[in-house]
Amino acid sequence: NLSARLTAAAAYIPKQARLADIGSDHAYLPTALMLEDQISYAVAGEVVEGPFEAAKKQVNKLKLNDTIQVRLANGLDAILPEDQIDCIAICGMGGTLISEILDKGFQKRQLTGKERLVLQPNVGEQTLRKWLAAHEYTIVDEAIVKEDGKIYELIIAEKQETVPHYTEKELKFGILLSKEKGPIFKEKWQKELEKVEAILASLAQSQSNQEVKQAQMMDEIALIKEML
Ligand code: SAM
Repeated sequence: NLSARLTAAAAYIPKQARLADIGSDHAYLPTALMLEDQISYAVAGEVVEGPFEAAKKQVNKLKLNDTIQVRLANGLDAILPEDQIDCIAICGMGGTLISEILDKGFQKRQLTGKERLVLQPNVGEQTLRKWLAAHEYTIVDEAIVKEDGKIYELIIAEKQETVPHYTEKELKFGILLSKEKGPIFKEKWQKELEKVEAILASLAQSQSNQEVKQAQMMDEIALIKEML
């Protein structure tokens, strides 16, 4: 049984996809999808020995060795041309790390632009959206879910014929999320607002001269308030 977070990611993986799950850990995502006959082939990539062994164990236990390849590799090095991967999932890492993995894969041409990207950054969503926009990806879908009191965003991207232009605001708050303004979105940014306001208050109390920082925080507060 997948967690709410990975269930949300699974919903964006096309039927019968050839999936590469990078940073797969226990290979929960590809094994669950394969058992449900939702995907036709998968590569589970892991760069750390422990999680790599855990992924192998899980795939062996479920007897999915024929259709799921577990590989010890850094980022998109796990993908070989003959895998004919058409969907790449990178979940449960920071947005900066996901961007770096994509960037290396882009430079090494492991990322062809034909794959759907199913990305779930834990933090640093803006950094990730900026990378996608700079590399002419269209953000085709977004979701926001809550699990064990934590809020996670999902970003689904594809290359399309037309190159979109995103505003700074969209890159920060999400292209679709900022339009929908759902309850979890509002909760996330309300919390963020309270956090920035608390920091600003403590800065005001300290004697040091931090006017630039204070001004930045007031801008940030105004920006978030506009969204809520
Ligand atoms: N994707 C799973 C999920 O969402 O539940 C596991 C998330 S786990 C927190 C992140 C995993 O990514 C770790 O097992 C870590 O070893 C792996 N990882 C980090 N950097 C990586 C890289 N450059 N290439 C492959 N795996 C990586």
